[in-house]
Amino acid sequence: MDIEPDTITVTSPLLPDLDEFTPLLRDIWQRKWITNNGHYHRELEQALADYLGVPYISVFTNGTLPLLTALQALGLRSGEVITTPFSFVATTHSLWWNGLTPVFADVDPVTGNLDPAAVEAAVTDRTVAIMPVHVYGTPCDTAALQAIADRHGLRVIYDAAHAFGVRAGGQSVLRAGDMSTLSFHATKVYNTVEGGALVCNSAEMKQRIDHLKNFGFTGETEVVAHGINSKMDEIRAAYGLLALRSVDSAIAARRTAAETYRAALAAVPGIRCLQDVPGVQHNYAYFPIFIDPAAYGRTRDELFALLKEHRILARRYFYPLIPDFAAYRDTLSARAAHIPVARALADSVLCLPMHHNLSPADLQRIIAVVAR
Ligand SMILES: *Cc1c(COP(=O)(O)O)cnc(C)c1O
Repeated sequence: MDIEPDTITVTSPLLPDLDEFTPLLRDIWQRKWITNNGHYHRELEQALADYLGVPYISVFTNGTLPLLTALQALGLRSGEVITTPFSFVATTHSLWWNGLTPVFADVDPVTGNLDPAAVEAAVTDRTVAIMPVHVYGTPCDTAALQAIADRHGLRVIYDAAHAFGVRAGGQSVLRAGDMSTLSFHATKVYNTVEGGALVCNSAEMKQRIDHLKNFGFTGETEVVAHGINSKMDEIRAAYGLLALRSVDSAIAARRTAAETYRAALAAVPGIRCLQDVPGVQHNYAYFPIFIDPAAYGRTRDELFALLKEHRILARRYFYPLIPDFAAYRDTLSARAAHIPVARALADSVLCLPMHHNLSPADLQRIIAVVAR
């Protein structure tokens, strides 16, 4: 797709410096080791563990396979998993691929994260786990979710695809629950073109995960589990090491953009912005606004179309809700789902452009249309 030169895109990939990338590529060519737990793969895992402040991390070829692998590593192959309807479809797909039944619980009206009270109400004797999402990078109520899990003997696997680098109370949010997954897709705060990771709490679990991402091989001649191939190659691992160097300044630029939006839109009737949470170090992964058409004078879809006329690409994220996709419409839990808050958010949300390359002029162009 060709786009007009003055189009403002909704995301923009964090690209490493090409002059720094070339020597690493030359080094990979000299080593002649281009995938399978190579030098840069190991270096990236160490660098990410240090940067994120997590004990064990395994990098993957995308952000969906760590979700599938987390469930495999915990031995979850039947039963119900309570999850959110307000997410990217990969969250629920990971349950389907493991033969687990998604049970959709409603979300918090302010953050869009799973509502612990709704989770508690959805627990049955078939429930085996909870799969929450830190939507837009805002941390879930991890203490309340853990208390429910402990009370009922459930696992908690966080889809933390939006939460790269997010901290709460000085600690990485990736430490919550049994495991957390990350996506390093091009559209995310930090990317390796395509990529992802699985964070866990013990060396034994990391080893199990590393076997599972390599077909279940434990040695040259032994396969101990039904693993898959989800290894990250050396070229993307080297790219990821370089991208890590500029992620702090990219997040700082996102923060400036978020503050500019909030200041300009605070007085616009019918628009609610997502706010920072005290004690949380945010990553400004997205800038969602929630529109009340009666007060704003336009519907969400009208604003979406108007922005497009001005060559500004926004995104209805997340809309439609996962249970409304054809693939899930017929599942029992999707039909039974009582999720009015998630429905209201999906119908009113619009994610404005948010990335590290937005200039002050870009922001003023966007604000002029939204605040008009
Ligand atoms: C991006 C994303 C994923 C999937 O990641 P990929 O790297 O694209 O496979 C999963 N969950 C959420 C919430 C996401 O935003």
